Amino acid sequence: MEVASMNIKELSFGLFSTDEIKKLSVLEIDRVEIWDVLGNAFSGGLYDLRLGPNDQNDVCQTCGLGYIHCSGHSGHINLPVTVYNPFFFKELYKLLRGTCFKCYRILAPIVVLRLVSYQLQALDYGLVNTVQDLQEIATEEIRATSKEEAINKILNKLDKKFKDAVNEAQHCSQEMPHCESPKKKITRYNARLVFRDSAKSVASASSTSDFANKDLMPEDARKLLQWLWKNDNNFLSQFYRFLKSNNPNPVDVFFMDVILVPPSRFRKSNVFMDEKKSRPNNII
Ligand SMILES: [Zn+2]
Ligand SMILES: [Zn+2]
Repeated sequence: MEVASMNIKELSFGLFSTDEIKKLSVLEIDRVEIWDVLGNAFSGGLYDLRLGPNDQNDVCQTCGLGYIHCSGHSGHINLPVTVYNPFFFKELYKLLRGTCFKCYRILAPIVVLRLVSYQLQALDYGLVNTVQDLQEIATEEIRATSKEEAINKILNKLDKKFKDAVNEAQHCSQEMPHCESPKKKITRYNARLVFRDSAKSVASASSTSDFANKDLMPEDARKLLQWLWKNDNNFLSQFYRFLKSNNPNPVDVFFMDVILVPPSRFRKSNVFMDEKKSRPNNII
């Protein structure tokens, strides 16, 4: 007898996209009620029999098998609006804080982006020494640049340093001369991202409306990240490995349009005095 075998060259983990969840799903859950007075599952509810049998007496309405043999089927819930994916919310916040909202590039000097990208790739090859060598080369380059500026005029350097620092705080990175956009700040309040324009200092702001807080809605944040991905996908896919996928818009992973509902057998209902009760984690 020949034993089937295969050599695994690569293994990767990913997340289902909205389309994949819908393909996997056997029904849309669109009913809040779960059980009727006789203890039967409502059609379209969280224990609809199309998601698999709920107990020994049921038959699956998708595959026709009983409780022992049906492995269960997934459903989905369509969300009325796009929301931030709670699993990646922290990462999304960090990424948005480091993004220029004018040119949709990462707010970092080109040398640094190139350095980190090469260092991450070097680690993939196990070239630990190269990571250090790259760091030294980059540091030398940065030092050389500073030296050149210093030779020009030592006194002016103090002025320049101060102006650069102020400029950097207010504008897109000076190493990106194509963009002199005022830098906008993102602040996080619980599960909200609030966007404010910090082009003017607090003292020079003519009215309080300059600082009016404005929510960054998930749909807008998604567009923004899609533009960022277009410009800096090389770096982003090195830095965030979960963005390496065949999905044309991998940054969609930061957002949710649908929720995958696992088969009923993996979230069994509680039975109390012959009455079925849904588990608290099922409540929509
Ligand atoms: Zn089934
Ligand atoms: Zn910019």
